Amino acid sequence: MQIYRDVDVDSSILEGKRISVLGYGSQGRAQALCLRDSGVDVTVGVRRDGESWKAAQKDGLRVTDIADAVKGADIVMMLLPDEVQGGVYKELVEPNLKSGAALEFAHGFAITFGTIVPPKDVDVIMVAPKGPGNMIRMIFEEGFGVPAIFSIHQDSTGKARDIVLALCKKMGFTRPGVFEESFRNECHTDLFGEQAVLCGGITELIKKAFEVLVEAGYPPEMAYFEVLHETKLVVDLINRGGLSYMWREVSNTAEYGGLTRRSRIVTEDSKEEMRKILKEIQDGTFSNQWISEFDGGMVNMRKMEKDEEGLLVEKVGKEIRREFFNRE
Ligand code: NDP
Ligand code: MG
Repeated sequence: MQIYRDVDVDSSILEGKRISVLGYGSQGRAQALCLRDSGVDVTVGVRRDGESWKAAQKDGLRVTDIADAVKGADIVMMLLPDEVQGGVYKELVEPNLKSGAALEFAHGFAITFGTIVPPKDVDVIMVAPKGPGNMIRMIFEEGFGVPAIFSIHQDSTGKARDIVLALCKKMGFTRPGVFEESFRNECHTDLFGEQAVLCGGITELIKKAFEVLVEAGYPPEMAYFEVLHETKLVVDLINRGGLSYMWREVSNTAEYGGLTRRSRIVTEDSKEEMRKILKEIQDGTFSNQWISEFDGGMVNMRKMEKDEEGLLVEKVGKEIRREFFNRE
């Protein structure tokens, strides 16, 4: 894997270029502010009646509506939620995008699943940072950055590579380092990771383990500490040094218990299901389902969120975080 760092990148290609960041949420805010602080000419494009309009103004950025921000821009950064990108693109971006501009993404979803099909006369690039917006901004302000994946889907001007790397540098991502991958690989692995492990897998593990303890008569507060609170402590160890490092750091009893029991929890059947989940991502089943959920007003998603909020582990957690950590 070739890793590109600050010394490998000449960012002078961005001089005099007009960059518009569409969306001012998690990624939009962080990326726009980092670019601005690096001396880049940034305009934020958002809805006139939305929350973000005021937020971007308050941060001292130039703000205009989306269509206006796209007109004349050399680089258009699509930092809107994936599920709205297709609609916003058709209505406001496509009619205003100038020939020879670069269309930039932070995730491969729209291109991989075809919710956006850009014209042939623009560059299509991606900078997918490995961190949420608030972390990107915090680490940038500390003088460093988070790693990122960059990608070139379409190089119409012959300058796509210089532009994408320059953006990486200006946002601090080449300080730790960036590497190249395809839109497709970034998209498939990102979705799979969040479904199987990061967001899907881990919450279901926590939920079911909490229920088992409480149903067996143990106090919910204890169950909360053991199966939810402490996940971070162990994940931090894994993140720092990998699996073996974590096993060395926990007690011998935890190590023996974990190593002998884990494959009964996540079984070969679970692995088979993971393969199916990956297949649904690859063949578009998942993205179609998600886009129609969005188009249908997210009725199921709102219901699932409500169910989750009603769980005992959530109620107990609120109390505990207030009592012990002074936050909700
Ligand atoms: P957010 O949900 O935080 O984006 C919110 C922004 O989008 C707001 O400015 C909001 O404006 C605007 N917006 C929402 N709906 C519409 C609409 N229908 N029309 C116009 N504007 C709208 O997005 P993220 O930052 O989470 O994600 C942006 C991209 O970055 C995605 O491609 C995502 O996959 C990717 N990404 C996200 C990461 C993350 O940690 N969040 C990590 C890596 C990549 P308003 O205030 O007007 O509602
Ligand atoms: Mg991810």
